[in-house]
Amino acid sequence: MDYQQILEEIHTEVKPVITQGKVADYIPKLAAVPLNKFGMAVQTLDGKLFSVGDADEYFSIQSISKAHTLILALQFAGENNLLKRVGREPSGNPFNSLVQLEYENGIPRNPFINAGAMVLVDIILSHSKDAVQTILKFVRDRSNNQNIDFDKEVAASEKSTGFRNAALANFLKSYGNLENDVEDVLDIYFSQCSLSMNCIDLARSFMILANHGLSPWSGKQIISKSQAKRINSLMLTCGTYDAVGDFAYRVGLPGKSGVGGGIVALIPGRLCVAVWSPGLNSSGNSLAGTQALELFTTKTGKSIF
Ligand code: GLN
Repeated sequence: MDYQQILEEIHTEVKPVITQGKVADYIPKLAAVPLNKFGMAVQTLDGKLFSVGDADEYFSIQSISKAHTLILALQFAGENNLLKRVGREPSGNPFNSLVQLEYENGIPRNPFINAGAMVLVDIILSHSKDAVQTILKFVRDRSNNQNIDFDKEVAASEKSTGFRNAALANFLKSYGNLENDVEDVLDIYFSQCSLSMNCIDLARSFMILANHGLSPWSGKQIISKSQAKRINSLMLTCGTYDAVGDFAYRVGLPGKSGVGGGIVALIPGRLCVAVWSPGLNSSGNSLAGTQALELFTTKTGKSIF
């Protein structure tokens, strides 16, 4: 399949939409990112890479990192322990909602809303003293790029206005669903969200999920085939927050988004695709990015359905 031609067509077709979204201005550093960026990359399981636009430009991956930390937390705690502390249902609420966490007694609906991701951090921290480095090493290895790093300015910027996330972490602690200090969990959470990556790194970092748990770079089985299936299912049902129904309907792939404007989606057995455009829709997913992925599955005729 000529993915290059398709990516170029998509780039042309989404151009009018690119500047229609709104950058995430609740994180001051992200408010400064130019709205007119667009990049897209496809990494196939048979080793081919295709890209268009700003696919090699680094940006803040934000909540896409929750897919990485879910894999790590699953490895550390095992499925049964994890599922005692975090659910697996779509939230139907914004990713930073407080109300649901209260009436569900401190058990986050799923691992991809902020509260759920904080429980993942807590698990990682309980199993690894230097959780920040553990996360960094994991993401570097998954992407096969040892140059990936955190953006300390973005992390500090989010911390300076992260009152809602602090409230969520305190809620979790009050319900006994954090073992570690609130401050430590928040610092690690802000760091993971600040990871700076490009579309090529991001597409590669999800390859084990498209490849039934096997790393194409090291040849090692990182997670089981069943775990890869479960994480993909969670992304399909919870990966794009309260717009997950719309995303599944239009794109037809499991995907994970972040308020930096990135989205990664994948077709098991075939490829990973990452897109970046910082303008967001009202649910915090990239507006042009969602449209680009919809065009991708429409033009290639490939989805999981
Ligand atoms: N760091 C962001 C936050 O906690 C991540 C949200 C997102 O990307 N959806 O608000």
